[in-house]
Amino acid sequence: MATSLLRIPPPQGLLRPLAVPERLLLGPGPSNVPPRILAAGSRQLLGHMHPEVLQVMDEIKAGVQYAFQTQNRLTLAISGTGHCAMEAALLNVLERGDTALVAVNGIWGQRAADIARRLGILGTSGAQEMGGCQNGELWFAGLARHKPSVLFITHGESSTGVLQPLEGLGELCHGHGCLLLVDAVASLGGAPIFMDQQEIDILYSGSQKVLNAPPGTAPISFSERAREKMLRRKMQPPSFYLDMGWLASYWGCDGEPRRYHHTAPINSFFSLREGLAMLAELGLESSWERHRANCTRLCQGLQDLGLELFVKEEKVRLPTITTVSVPKGYDWKEITAFLMDKHGIEIAGGLGPSVGKVLRIGLMGCNSTSSNVERVLSALRDALRCCRHSRL
Ligand code: PMP
Repeated sequence: MATSLLRIPPPQGLLRPLAVPERLLLGPGPSNVPPRILAAGSRQLLGHMHPEVLQVMDEIKAGVQYAFQTQNRLTLAISGTGHCAMEAALLNVLERGDTALVAVNGIWGQRAADIARRLGILGTSGAQEMGGCQNGELWFAGLARHKPSVLFITHGESSTGVLQPLEGLGELCHGHGCLLLVDAVASLGGAPIFMDQQEIDILYSGSQKVLNAPPGTAPISFSERAREKMLRRKMQPPSFYLDMGWLASYWGCDGEPRRYHHTAPINSFFSLREGLAMLAELGLESSWERHRANCTRLCQGLQDLGLELFVKEEKVRLPTITTVSVPKGYDWKEITAFLMDKHGIEIAGGLGPSVGKVLRIGLMGCNSTSSNVERVLSALRDALRCCRHSRL
């Protein structure tokens, strides 16, 4: 018998069947994927340049234009998660020596500032107290003083549960020769946003929140102003994979024949297409209303349990992700573990600057239902009874 040359045996874990438990995902994302989207993602593969796939990409583009309320021709989905879209936005519109003004009132501003710094961008950030929104005066002063080329702001700050009002900000930026870049990963489809009417220049989101698709694709769009800034670049963008010139060509956004750039995650595109189709069928206004109504129910129920909402001002509460202060006498990790172990429900603790301060409950897309509100409230009632820590 020939002796084997293999020194590493097949891993035992891989010889067992894949184990995926049933879980209700009511954290800040991902949210559960409904059967229709799961089915789309498990369809047989086609080639990434086949006309049927290019057609799906065109449908995604139209779906993103609807969800963003934009006519921008440079609209597509990045093959990557929300962070990838954040990097794509920053590294395509900014180049070394440019200045970016970054609004920091949670983790996403911190991350954007970090990415900008790595790109050699002169970053300057305006911070605001957590749990509140950014105020216009801060921007007015920042724009006049620093003369940035881009202002970054997060629409739905998922680490704190704040919905940032955007009214007038695009106009203000343009009056200072600055582009407005908005992160709507956690808010798209759950709260109104109007890319063209609000004069947003770069807008991106993610697939795994209200769109209910698996993580891994990220809608993004650039205004004509942003496109012109990209065309004026002195140097190529520092990433080939995220070079918008190449991506525009692959997505058929530049009126030229499509060119292969990378092998697209085709089945993820199928899923994203279905997520966007479900949003189009429901209609944006109904989707916003559904998220608003269930968030209001949840907030009322949380207060009835004696919990304190972290975002005090009702009109700046993010309808997709609700935050409560960690109740006195409790360890937040015990509460999240209790919900997971005893009720099969995921909720989350804080993130970045809100760690240890809040619990986060997400109701996004198909997960935004009154029965899920009841389920999570009843699980929390149980947790508050069982997890009280006398030593805390
Ligand atoms: N921005 C916001 C507001 C988010 O909530 C998230 C994800 N939680 C991201 C960006 C990053 O997205 P991803 O985890 O898909 O990279």
